[in-house]
Amino acid sequence: MGLTGIDILKMLPKKNCGECGVPTCLAFAMKVAAGQEDIGACPYVSDEVKEKVGEASAPPIRTITLGSGDNKFEFGGETCLYRHEKRFEHPTGLAVLVTNNMAEDEVQSRLDRFNALRYDRVGVNLRAELVAIKDEKGDEGTFTGLVQKVRENCPDAAIILMSDNPSTLKAGADVCGDHKPLLYAATESNVDDMVAVAKETECPLAVKGDTIGKTAKLSEKIQEEGLKDLVLDTGARTLKSVFEDQIVCRRASIKHKYKPLGFPTITFPSEMANDTLTEAMITSILIAKYAGICVLSDIHGDTLFPLLLERLNIFTDPQRPMVVQEDIYPINGPDENSPVLITCNFSLTYFIVSGEVEGSKVPSWLLIKDTEGLSVLTAWAAGKFSADLIAQFVKKSGIEDKVKHRSLIIPGYLASIKGELEEELPDWKIQIGPREASHLPSYLKSWQPEG
Ligand code: SF4
Repeated sequence: MGLTGIDILKMLPKKNCGECGVPTCLAFAMKVAAGQEDIGACPYVSDEVKEKVGEASAPPIRTITLGSGDNKFEFGGETCLYRHEKRFEHPTGLAVLVTNNMAEDEVQSRLDRFNALRYDRVGVNLRAELVAIKDEKGDEGTFTGLVQKVRENCPDAAIILMSDNPSTLKAGADVCGDHKPLLYAATESNVDDMVAVAKETECPLAVKGDTIGKTAKLSEKIQEEGLKDLVLDTGARTLKSVFEDQIVCRRASIKHKYKPLGFPTITFPSEMANDTLTEAMITSILIAKYAGICVLSDIHGDTLFPLLLERLNIFTDPQRPMVVQEDIYPINGPDENSPVLITCNFSLTYFIVSGEVEGSKVPSWLLIKDTEGLSVLTAWAAGKFSADLIAQFVKKSGIEDKVKHRSLIIPGYLASIKGELEEELPDWKIQIGPREASHLPSYLKSWQPEG
């Protein structure tokens, strides 16, 4: 980030009109400097200023977009070394490899797994996002046939096209059409032709050197030729070397604004291990430090799911708690006689409590109160899960139309607000649930309404 808020303020018209959604030009300039607003939100700045500020405020690692429409995959765009400094922007993309040397059944089973291995957790759909298609035969016809097959079978997959032959990549990119693939890869020996194909197809280009130094040189040369959307492969294929290279790339671009390495990386755990567990272990390290894409030789639920969960944890914003929506959640098909429980909307709390209720097989209503993502005791201490707010929510939630009884189960840790809550909800009896969610199944199995 080259410009301060004051630098940006000098370029604004200083009307203080608020049309940008921020009350004053100074406040707007500060937000632009912090990367929280786009300079284009002010309708009065010139194109020249937009370009100058846009360039200076661009993240030190370029954001690269593959795919099209609703099926875009973005990576890069990172601005910090450590997640606690701000947040990581774009989760590492996971790719499954298919080649034109594989038997048709094998290709199909990989594509089927790509489509099937998807998991909903904390309101997020977790999945692999990319298919890497490799021309192992050196045969354009079978390669483009495979590209066509992947596009038809996995329309939401972002595509990586892999070939040493620029004209084969061009043919593959033509099959992809508007669904922009990553072209892999420009090397010292084919760089001019690869640059020409990338320019013609307007696709991002991977740059592969034998070492990180040679990769940087190649990247510099390609940028001089006018290409801006690059992805780096430093050629490392051992865990030690690839790990070191990822850190050097990130540090050089973030700390030293070194432009030749200011791009996201692509890594190949598929070429670094002979078994899926070792490959998953390598991938888990590269997700943490700092791969843009990891290409896997295959995907299976037992190794993919833990990688997706690791990725979810690392790439959530540490300053923003994960929440679920305030609502009534029916679990196990409840009716008018089923117990009613209430808890906070911190997603971890919701998933632990709802999991235990579901496991109990007791039909139940679970009320989730918006506590801004705070857990039960923290929310209570912060005044966001107090008796009056719980009462307001219960009254407006519509639960009174769903059950005949008037018994409300509150978390065991909130036993102290029972009396206050009964005053706020005079028609209801407040029951103290267990302190630990793991005790909910036995509690619910013997539950009887009081009110
Ligand atoms: S719209 Fe432009 S001129 Fe108006 S307050 Fe925002 S930055 Fe200032």
